[in-house]
Amino acid sequence: MNPLAHNMGNATKEELETFGNFVINDLGIEGGFLWTPASPSIMIFPNILIRESLIGGCYKWEAKEEVLHEISHLKIGEGGHGKEFYAIFGELVSKYMHLDKWL
Ligand SMILES: [Zn+2]
Repeated sequence: MNPLAHNMGNATKEELETFGNFVINDLGIEGGFLWTPASPSIMIFPNILIRESLIGGCYKWEAKEEVLHEISHLKIGEGGHGKEFYAIFGELVSKYMHLDKWL
């Protein structure tokens, strides 16, 4: 079996929601996972609003990365993309992108 195969195909709503809530709980931060029909995904404290167009619109790894992007905003409490944001985003990608328990 192709070891990368788990990264192909689309994520389901349930898979992404479970992934996002796991990461939020694992980090011990306040936050909720919500869906939005709007785009792009956005963090509006204390929630991440993930765009529904992710479902069926990209690979699973891309969807997971976008969820981690918004959780990085949640962790620092603001929406900017400075050094602090990318330091945390990098940490979260290293720590959680490989998890294929659900995806
Ligand atoms: Zn952002």
